[in-house]
Parts: sequence; C-alpha cells; structure tokens
Amino acid sequence: MKLKSLEISGFKSFANKTKIDFMPGITGVVGPNGSGKSNIIESVRWVLGEQSAKGLRGDRMADVIFGGTATRAPLNRAEVVITFDNSDHYLNSSYSEIAITRTLYRNGDSKYLLNGTAVRLKDIQELFMDSGLGRESFSIISQGRVESIFSAKAEERRTIIEEVAGVYKYKQNKNRAEKELSGTHENLNRVRDILHELE
Ligand code: ATP
Repeated sequence: MKLKSLEISGFKSFANKTKIDFMPGITGVVGPNGSGKSNIIESVRWVLGEQSAKGLRGDRMADVIFGGTATRAPLNRAEVVITFDNSDHYLNSSYSEIAITRTLYRNGDSKYLLNGTAVRLKDIQELFMDSGLGRESFSIISQGRVESIFSAKAEERRTIIEEVAGVYKYKQNKNRAEKELSGTHENLNRVRDILHELE
C-alpha cells in the first residue's frame, strides 16, 4: 500500500483546491513558519476520521473550514480526498485503489465517501484498523507527540504497541464478545427467575 495523492480544498489555510501527488521515495514539505505544513498532516488525520477538534488545534470541528483572510471571504465547506495504491491489497479491500473523501459543511453536515460511495466513519475506521495507519496510529507523529509517547502511562503506551502489533482489533472484538456474553447471562438469569416463579 502506498500513499498516492492528497487533495485539500477549503481545509484550514488551503482555500483553493490543492493536490499533492506523492512520488516514489521520500517527500519533504518545506516552507516558512505558518505557511501550512502542519495543516497538510492534519488534513491526513482528518480525512482518516479524526474526531477531536482539539487534536486539530481548534475549538470546534468547523474550525477546520477555511475561515477567511483579510482579502478572502470564509468558505462554507472543507473537503479532503486521500488516495492509496492498494494493488498489494494490504488494506482489507478488493479495490486496488482506495480514495477516501471527508466533507464538512459549516451547518454541521458531514459525509465520508469510499471510492465515491457514502460510508460511515466506522467503515473507514475498520478499514484502517491494525493497518498501522489508523487515526490513533503512530505512522503520523505530530510535533510534541514523541515526548507525549515517552511520558505516556504504561497502559497508554501498551495501546500504541498493540495497534502496531495488530492485536488491538482482536482486543476490541473480545471486549464486544464479553459484553454480549454478560448480556446473555443476564437474560438467562431473568429467564431462570421467571421459571422459578412459574414452578
Ligand atoms: P510552523 O513551521 O510554524 O509549524 P506550519 O507551516 O506548520 O508552521 P501551519 O501551522 O500548518 O503552519 O499553518 C498555520 C496557518 O494556518 C496560520 O496562518 C493560520 O492562520 C492558518 N489557518 C489555520 N486554520 C485556518 C482556517 N480555518 N482558515 C484559514 N486559515 C487557517
């Protein structure tokens, strides 16, 4: 799986549609302070399902929409499209190319598309779970994150290692199964009580 391209429009400082094609090898982004380098990385986290406005240096999620400048009016919509080459089917999908689109309007309407089809956030999260590229993965290390990983509590650090090792998904499935089991036990107890009353 390879990151192929990123299309940003109306997201933070990127008022105009901006497309970045990632060529083989390493891509570096350089620019003066405040020119939008971190906004590019945040657009990647956002399109992969980031739900925390604070994690994107805002107060509300609508803060990611281009808010205008002295010479340009604010926009009404932020949209990011990220495209992966999945010809090795590293991501669990039959598509050999995967394009994810996230759109947010100022009135709060929002949508996710997977290759042009509307999907839920959960579908995006499941696609990337244990791929090492999820929203919480450390394939994206923002400023200050290295320090926070070092100073994290042991359990928090363990969650990161579990995501990387690919056991996080199974842990979540186990938790879900345990909840269902405990619900079934409760139902069983209720049935036993009713039977007892009838006897
Ligand atoms: P540094 O090198 O200092 O880390 P940077 O190149 O990473 O800077 P960013 O932090 O990505 O820069 O971009 C900051 C710029 O983005 C600021 O000028 C800020 O005004 C602008 N910006 C952030 N959110 C919005 C928004 N919603 N609308 C318009 N501009 C925005």
